[in-house]
Amino acid sequence: MKGSVLPAEAGAPARPRALLEKARAAFHQQSGPLTEELVLRPGDFGLGQVPARLKPDATATAVCGFCSTGCGLNVHLRQGAAINLSAAADYPVNLGMACPKGWEALTPLRSADRATSPLLRNTRGELEAASWETALRVFTDKFKAIQERHGPESLAWLGTGQITTEELAFLGALAKFGMGIRHGDGNTRQCMATAVTAYKESFGFDAPPYTYADFEESDVLVFVGSNLCIAHPILWQRVLRNRDRRKIIIVVDPRKTETAMAATQHYALRPKSDLVLFYGLANLLLAGGCVDRDFVHRHTTGFEPFARFVQGFTPEVVSQATGLTLAQLRQFADTIQRGRRVSFWWTMGVNQGHEATRTAQALINLALMTGNVGRPGTGPNSITGQCNAMGSRLFSNTTNLLGGHDFQNPAHREKVARVLGLDAARIPAGNSLAYDQIVQGIADGRIKGLWVVATNGSHSWIDQSHFNALLDRLEFLVVQDMFASTETAQRAHLVLPAAGWGEKEGTFINSERRFGRVRKVARAPGRALADFHIFQLLARQWGCGEMFSRWTSPEAVFQILKALSRGQPCDFTGIRDFAHLDACGGIQWPFPEAGSMRPVPGPTVSAHKSHPSHPSHPAGGGPERERRLFADGAFFHPDGKARFVFEAPRALPEPTDEDFPFLLLTGRGTSAQWHTGTRTEKSAVLRKLRPPGIYVEINPSDAQRLRLAPQAKVCVESRRGQLVATAFVTPTIQPGQLFIPMHYPAANQLTCAAFDPYSRQPSYKACAVQICPASDAGG
Ligand code: SF4
Repeated sequence: MKGSVLPAEAGAPARPRALLEKARAAFHQQSGPLTEELVLRPGDFGLGQVPARLKPDATATAVCGFCSTGCGLNVHLRQGAAINLSAAADYPVNLGMACPKGWEALTPLRSADRATSPLLRNTRGELEAASWETALRVFTDKFKAIQERHGPESLAWLGTGQITTEELAFLGALAKFGMGIRHGDGNTRQCMATAVTAYKESFGFDAPPYTYADFEESDVLVFVGSNLCIAHPILWQRVLRNRDRRKIIIVVDPRKTETAMAATQHYALRPKSDLVLFYGLANLLLAGGCVDRDFVHRHTTGFEPFARFVQGFTPEVVSQATGLTLAQLRQFADTIQRGRRVSFWWTMGVNQGHEATRTAQALINLALMTGNVGRPGTGPNSITGQCNAMGSRLFSNTTNLLGGHDFQNPAHREKVARVLGLDAARIPAGNSLAYDQIVQGIADGRIKGLWVVATNGSHSWIDQSHFNALLDRLEFLVVQDMFASTETAQRAHLVLPAAGWGEKEGTFINSERRFGRVRKVARAPGRALADFHIFQLLARQWGCGEMFSRWTSPEAVFQILKALSRGQPCDFTGIRDFAHLDACGGIQWPFPEAGSMRPVPGPTVSAHKSHPSHPSHPAGGGPERERRLFADGAFFHPDGKARFVFEAPRALPEPTDEDFPFLLLTGRGTSAQWHTGTRTEKSAVLRKLRPPGIYVEINPSDAQRLRLAPQAKVCVESRRGQLVATAFVTPTIQPGQLFIPMHYPAANQLTCAAFDPYSRQPSYKACAVQICPASDAGG
């Protein structure tokens, strides 16, 4: 029965009548589901009771499409289409948990503003619906004309960590080998390039060594520049499952973040003084005799020069640079020294810095010198950002040749050409320009055409106004995305409508190197197509379709990628097919088939005795469900040893001064927001879970000095732009510092285009700004 309507009381005075109407509206909803649809019924499939209207006839597990945690989500299906979802209880990553984004994963698919047709900018400057035939022809004609006029280096693409591994490989192979586009990079440059470079130099391959069980097996967990509670909420849940009563959680972060509040020790150092801190800790550990000499001797090189180098980082020097007291430094070093299983975890607070690679390597050095590598609960562990950043790192064909190979290595080019059945001459012998260098190429007029796939650089790239001005200079900009409403798509000459997560098949690789399944559980709207199919169509239109005749489906490409991985550290030739991934709850690389070059290291994960429900060993055999690297102490450099890499710290690119006296930090706001909000802003639930407008955190002492009341409108200005935000007065931010979440579109109008010289990752975390009441700024 629908909700009933009370009869109106004739003659009631106007005000009480209005109140009565309000009360009726609150208690008697006049539209909505029928009562019979809300009755709880057994949902089957282990779902307990569900409303009748949401009773599925099947379920399937798919990996979540937001962050790199890679949670398994049980999608509830009726006649093959998704009607609901829940967290998968038996998936080894999340063990029945999901964060708000995961629970809302289906909502963006149903958004009314999905791109449903190709859009072409007409002579009036408006985007207008076009057929796929027209879109494909215009794409090809425009880009080929630019190539003919300006040469092979005049085109570039910017990809993503948001599409499947098979699509990433297709994009990279099509662009570089098929279309002859020399330069391509991805939004993974903004989040994980530093970890990639650090691991490659230190270990010989981009190989995060850990498995999530390590969160539960450490007795000292050190989080650096990682607000795990917010950024990776399910990984924080894994920390909470750690039953060691004596465990110590250390957070290194200028802000008192949610994670810092839950920590045993919080070191609120000065922004970007972390490299000095870690060299100082190494010095203290050396002085305290806390070096695993046997491990260092057998498995590393470069320790002696490193030990001499860090002697200059005395506690006094480090205290001066970081703002931490001598007692705090000693406490930190003592805690590491006393730990039996120490793990070091980092993410964007390290990766997005001007000396990020060396900072990440300073953490790697601490793990190496103390022998905290390859054992349960240890490791220098970078936590990845996007759902398939790890797939992008291995298979986007940007700075690595497919499968973690090297463009500059002739033997690698021959191998890849052989596997793909193409002429090795089609494979460039050099690396691509990085994202910032592509942007500079546009500024210099060398790059005239750009193809952007599933990323929103107009919001997310550093020094946003400059970036957008450059996009407007391009002769031809193509954006391929689920939404034509993104800031980047709104600048495009051509928009190609793409299917999203949940509307296509393939795999993602999560932070702990686990391949997981992505499934088609919904139809893409209108004429939107899976990126995979768009690449197939473009290959044919371009005239290189024959080169991809074996790339018939995501699973066929998965088999090709397996062959490319053979003999590499990431060898996964032992994974049979997608069904094998389903049966095992995903499979971590490496997983070579018998007879491949490098054996699987392991089994290396101790049984979860404190958690008997933990599925370490799937019924019926198969791979260990959680495996870590380097249990054998063998690294990926030719000599099998890890390297100590170090360098003198560099000055902050944009220190504060009289005109811009505050340091601005940026980062994640809530667990309900994802990057530029392209998808999370489509969910009413997620919108309710975040502050509605842009805000800036400021310390009470600064607010008082500047006469800024809580919730006042303030103007924040840098040398590049200004914005108006709401003042959030809070002691969680230190005096002299401000914090703005990156999810709001204006945030990157302020940031400064400085980069780590090795990873070329932007330094989002510290630039000089000033703040004043908005009224003073004319706001
Ligand atoms: Fe998805 Fe990440 Fe949330 Fe898990 S933690 S549900 S992978 S967004």
